[in-house]
Amino acid sequence: MPGFEIINKEEFINIKKIFKNNCILFKYGFENLRNNLFFVKSFENSFKNKINSKYALAVTSGTAALKIAVKSLNLKPGDKVLIPSFTFVATIEAVIECGLKPVICEIDNSLNMSISDLRTKIIKKNVKAIIVVHMLGYPADILNISKIAKSKKIHLIEDTAWGLGAKVKNKYLGTFGRMGTFSFDYAKSMTTGEGGMIIFKNKKDYEFASEYHDHGHMNVKSLPRFKDTRKIPGFNYRMNEIQGALGIAQLKKLSKIINYQRKFTINLKKLLSNHKNISFIKEPDKSLASYDSFCFFVNDKSTAIKIRNNLLKNAFSTKILPEAMKWHFADEWEHINFNKGKLIKSKKILDRTVSIPISMKYKKTDIKKISDIILNSM
Ligand SMILES: *Cc1c(COP(=O)(O)O)cnc(C)c1O
Repeated sequence: MPGFEIINKEEFINIKKIFKNNCILFKYGFENLRNNLFFVKSFENSFKNKINSKYALAVTSGTAALKIAVKSLNLKPGDKVLIPSFTFVATIEAVIECGLKPVICEIDNSLNMSISDLRTKIIKKNVKAIIVVHMLGYPADILNISKIAKSKKIHLIEDTAWGLGAKVKNKYLGTFGRMGTFSFDYAKSMTTGEGGMIIFKNKKDYEFASEYHDHGHMNVKSLPRFKDTRKIPGFNYRMNEIQGALGIAQLKKLSKIINYQRKFTINLKKLLSNHKNISFIKEPDKSLASYDSFCFFVNDKSTAIKIRNNLLKNAFSTKILPEAMKWHFADEWEHINFNKGKLIKSKKILDRTVSIPISMKYKKTDIKKISDIILNSM
């Protein structure tokens, strides 16, 4: 969460460089004016180096990143894509935008895809691709999911909108799937106002996505843009230089943000761990979450709501759970026409989950205050 809270002089200095450099806001071209400064390209490079990926493409949003990634799979209209029941509505929007059919997978106490439901549904529903989500910075069981996807020859995309900086077996989330997508919207761990990134294992996927996100432009270096070649029709999902400049500055703060979130989680968990009616999210072996927010289970929905209300009374808050199921739980998406099914298992889990946003503005004493409010609401 805290990216937006620590936008400061580093971001401003980078943006000033653009204004001192002929105000070039476009990612491509203008070579005679831009003095070799390419902010979006440099952001892509720093990003892929940071998380050890081969290719990265910056785009206008996390939702666009998902759509482009799904499009790059080149599936047939109506092919089925498995997504988890608990995610932001963007995940299903990307599937629908590509003319594909979403199939919803139950979650388990990792807050992410249930492996057993995944195993059943990929066979029963003839699923061609999986979008795994690492909700709120808690890693899904990505080792098992990628093993299953590989053995069944199903494409795997990671929606890493919340999971930037988290690792499993010392490998960054987003790098397990064929592609990984990220969001830099205003509420994510780091932000460019709006923006997203896709990382790729294969050069072919990268090239397709790069062309698709820029009207089919192949960006041949020796040609002026108006004579550039193309093979496919595309769209416009280009990131601009101001977003690139913000991204470069925010990425440098990422480790600080994640370390803060981890420390906060450890400390709050300690204070809550002795209560018999509080339990914690299951994290996969050898994983290191990024903890965009701090999540825990209570016994029932009314307790979860009571905790939220008591936090609000004291100028704290919850985030997404329990209050925002409407945008994050597939069974509540009455505005989208798809075969929802009854996601009873997921609902049972989500109803008793509380999620606390982790702010860098908290004072040292706030962790104790939050824990007291929670314990007094039990
Ligand atoms: C935020 C989010 C997205 C979409 O990102 P935007 O940049 O807001 O378009 C996609 N998936 C999940 C799980 C998200 O939380």
